[in-house]
Amino acid sequence: MAGKPGSSSRPLRVAIVGAGPSGFYAAGALLQQKEIHVSIDIFDRLPTPYGLVRYGVAPDHQKIKSVTKVYERTVRDSRVRYFGNVGLGEEIVHADLKNYYDQIIYATGASSDKQLNIPGEELAGSFSATEFVAWYNGHPDFADRDFDLSVESVAIIGVGNVAMDVTRILAKSYAELAETDIADYALEKLRDSRVKRIHVLARRGPAQAKFTNPEIKELGELAEADVIINPIDLILDEVSQASLESDRTATRNLETMQELAERGATGKPKQIHFHFLRSPVELCGDRAVKSMRMEVNELHPTESGYITCDGIGRFETLDVGLVFRSIGYRSVPIPGVPFYDKWGIIPNEKGRVTATHKGEVVPGEYVVGWAKRGPTGVIGTNKPDSVETVAAMMEDVKNLTPVTDANAAPGAIVALLKERGADYFTFEDWLKLEAIEDERGKAQGRPRVKFTSEAEMLAAVQK
Ligand code: NAP
Repeated sequence: MAGKPGSSSRPLRVAIVGAGPSGFYAAGALLQQKEIHVSIDIFDRLPTPYGLVRYGVAPDHQKIKSVTKVYERTVRDSRVRYFGNVGLGEEIVHADLKNYYDQIIYATGASSDKQLNIPGEELAGSFSATEFVAWYNGHPDFADRDFDLSVESVAIIGVGNVAMDVTRILAKSYAELAETDIADYALEKLRDSRVKRIHVLARRGPAQAKFTNPEIKELGELAEADVIINPIDLILDEVSQASLESDRTATRNLETMQELAERGATGKPKQIHFHFLRSPVELCGDRAVKSMRMEVNELHPTESGYITCDGIGRFETLDVGLVFRSIGYRSVPIPGVPFYDKWGIIPNEKGRVTATHKGEVVPGEYVVGWAKRGPTGVIGTNKPDSVETVAAMMEDVKNLTPVTDANAAPGAIVALLKERGADYFTFEDWLKLEAIEDERGKAQGRPRVKFTSEAEMLAAVQK
């Protein structure tokens, strides 16, 4: 017997599934605590680490991406290893994790999206914003998507920060995009884009918009696009007006929207039109979207203080050739791991996975990030979220059922991966790939030129 799990002779073996922000913050919190000796393996189904920082954060928001330096420090710790290109449900399955790790953390995020559930949603030209975001960020699973940017009018449903990202990317000039790390194929496609009008639909009013202030401000600074807001839409009802008193973001957003409304059209070639109190009710067209029917809404305060909206039976039609629903992400179930379909998350109690919503705790299994709490918050929100889960894990160490010492040996999982023929990516492999991307970027005055296919990534580091 090598010792109790968590001792120096038998460190606690932890698997983290998913190398995005929440996974790295969990690893960081495990390293930081002083009581338990840990040995951590981080898995990701893609060769590349960093999840949404690489494939979600907009390519023109490079500063946000510098957070990867923190994650890099974490993975360089001798107690941490990285195994990229190893998918749960592919090269390894749930039962393997249970056999080789004392504790498992799911940091698998929310890779799918919510549906509008309206007629015509399945027509060609109707997409989720998540697909478009993953495409322009060079996510290997989305690199072959085709968006018809020969249309002149596009609708974006929802007014969160993802909607703002998509709006900006569609509205930016080639010169603006060419200095980012947007995927090469997307840069080329957007260069030839004929999109002129971007209609942004908010089902509620301007005081309920979910975007943050820098994002709406950025729309007012675009080289080739004017923002069009009808000043009448910014006249608030009493309840919305009162809600501003406790909401600084909404107050600032309103001020920015006032400025944009006053400025109006200045003759730039593209226009971003905001439509408040409008819900799409049908996408129309034979095979592809040609127009969108929308219903006018009215706001209703509820007892909880939340302001909801209802259609008033008045309808309008917008001619649009592309529709992006940007109404929120959603996690996807993992075989062998509980899933609460109603909320689209792994059910949990402060990060401890439960068999059902509010059900029994599943020993040894934990969750962090969007898979834990749903798709809300910025990257930094994941830090306290992961710290909470790690605190629960540490509390549970004294009662855990450990894996065998033979399986806990760090070489055991490596042997299993080799036996399965997994071409796993080490962190050193990633550093090699990153250096090539950076080098290619330098040559073009860009932060990096991304590899967008897994086969190319493997070939580049001679796997
Ligand atoms: P979000 O902030 O939750 O926004 C979703 C939007 O969709 C809301 O305007 C919501 O309206 C609307 N919506 C939901 N269901 C709808 C329906 N059935 N019909 C019409 N509209 C509907 O989500 P997100 O934009 O996907 O962003 C996810 C998280 O990532 C957020 O926390 C966001 O701040 C963060 N993020 C941050 C950045 C950044 O920091 N730059 C960038 C991207 C994402 P209601 O309010 O009426 O529900």
